Amino acid sequence: QQDTTFRVSVRAVPGSGILVSFEDETTLERAMQMRRDFVANVSHELKTPLTALISFIETLRGPARDDAAARDRFLNVMGAEAERMNRLIADLLSLSRVEAEERVRPTARLDLASLVKSVALGLSRIAEDAGVEIATDTPPEVEIRGDSDQLRQVLVNLTENAIKYAGKGARVTITVTHPGYEAPVRDEGVRIVVSDTGAGIDPVHLPRLTERFYRVDSDRSREKGGTGLGLAIVKHIVNRHRGRIRVDSTPGEGTEVTVILPR
Ligand code: ADP
Repeated sequence: QQDTTFRVSVRAVPGSGILVSFEDETTLERAMQMRRDFVANVSHELKTPLTALISFIETLRGPARDDAAARDRFLNVMGAEAERMNRLIADLLSLSRVEAEERVRPTARLDLASLVKSVALGLSRIAEDAGVEIATDTPPEVEIRGDSDQLRQVLVNLTENAIKYAGKGARVTITVTHPGYEAPVRDEGVRIVVSDTGAGIDPVHLPRLTERFYRVDSDRSREKGGTGLGLAIVKHIVNRHRGRIRVDSTPGEGTEVTVILPR
């Protein structure tokens, strides 16, 4: 393989001969680099709101001390920055919990149809505020094995993204198809599709969307309250369920995120 480094060690084994071993250092080095990048990203993401908070505190202690209007304005911004840190920490905890459980396959039975309906209902207010119409299309009952809290998080993250990025006037649909109800292309499992009629994503970004902190437009993500971890969390949960995820998007037409879960 190209760009692969091996550590070769030679050891004499008395009575048997010589033992030559090859260790793949590239994979280890790559994992270490990813960890370093992750720590650097987390530090940066936390430092930005913290720096803003510190400077507002200084202003409130000094120049804005007796200015009631400025104080209210600054406190609102400080509240928003603190909430941003809170969301980031909540997502980091979710990510580490999901990662820790990734090897343990969930076995509980649940009805995906009612989960989808309950998520759509729970997000209907946010959708309404954003001027987005939300709909579901699912068979009456779809029993699968899975972790219901985690699958709820998958549905919430994907639907919130669709609402957030598609914007006013868009339509968001959560569709579930099940081999028992619909003729499948291949009998590959239960298919959940969250689609929107938003602005879409340039295809160059698609392969990297599920990476931690990868954003198409950082300012827009932050303005919408995004942490850049939503799709990374989704990917880990889907992996835990031995499923697959794919994102299809046509700029100007919309985005479609498909999650396929084995039956
Ligand atoms: P974020 O917290 O920034 O939303 P995510 O991991 O959930 O992070 O998503 C990564 C990026 O993918 C987003 O910043 C956004 O640019 C893009 N994205 C995700 N879903 C959609 C969508 N439905 N339409 C357009 N862009 C999207």
